[in-house]
Amino acid sequence: MKALIDLHTHTIVSGHAYSTVQENIQAAKEVGLKYLGLSEHGPNMPASPHLYYFQNIHCIPKEVDGLKVLRGVEANIIDYDGNIDIDEDLAKHMNYMIVSLHPPCIGYGTKEQNTTAVINAMNHKKVKVIGHLDDSRYPVDYEMIVKTAKDKDILFEVNNSSLKPESFREGAIENVGYLLKYCKQYNVRVIFGSDAHISYDVGKFNNCEKAIQDHDFPRELVVNYNEEEIKNIFDLD
Ligand SMILES: [Zn+2]
Ligand SMILES: [Zn+2]
Repeated sequence: MKALIDLHTHTIVSGHAYSTVQENIQAAKEVGLKYLGLSEHGPNMPASPHLYYFQNIHCIPKEVDGLKVLRGVEANIIDYDGNIDIDEDLAKHMNYMIVSLHPPCIGYGTKEQNTTAVINAMNHKKVKVIGHLDDSRYPVDYEMIVKTAKDKDILFEVNNSSLKPESFREGAIENVGYLLKYCKQYNVRVIFGSDAHISYDVGKFNNCEKAIQDHDFPRELVVNYNEEEIKNIFDLD
């Protein structure tokens, strides 16, 4: 089976990534993706784009040489009530939002605080994916979060960068194991994301593939392989 989408990619706009939109598009075409999501960091991440970037995102074509380009953002969860740094007006410009916990934007809370933050963050319109919920520095109740995501029809990201040996996210391999276990048990879908910060990583899911094999995770629950589901989830024609 072939992955058709990578919805988690960054460009130089994010301030700590190294390729341009055009380079990411080129890379996506070369690895045979049909859908590429641009998901720069929300404004609370140091050196991330100004709000004007997101307001002006309509400049980016919806399709380039047959590759569909989705307008997204990786919003930051900024407190334990689950508030994020993209408001509803700005979200209207996007096809989707990923919401994530990042150390510069929120302190490492308790398990209860982090769990509440993530669950409440699912309530914002346009949130489709919980990003890299795999970092032991942010302990969470995986079972409770997976059950809530099922009710709200939200996907969990299996993040290829977290699973690299040099990843700074602690305990990611073990935590992805918990996530996959509960997603399998409750029939909740996941999506692979490269979290590319350079074009060479766009569409690379080798570590995600290994994780689902290791955990005998059903491929029917991996959205990347299913074009109809991709179109439904991201409201594409
Ligand atoms: Zn980043
Ligand atoms: Zn992130």
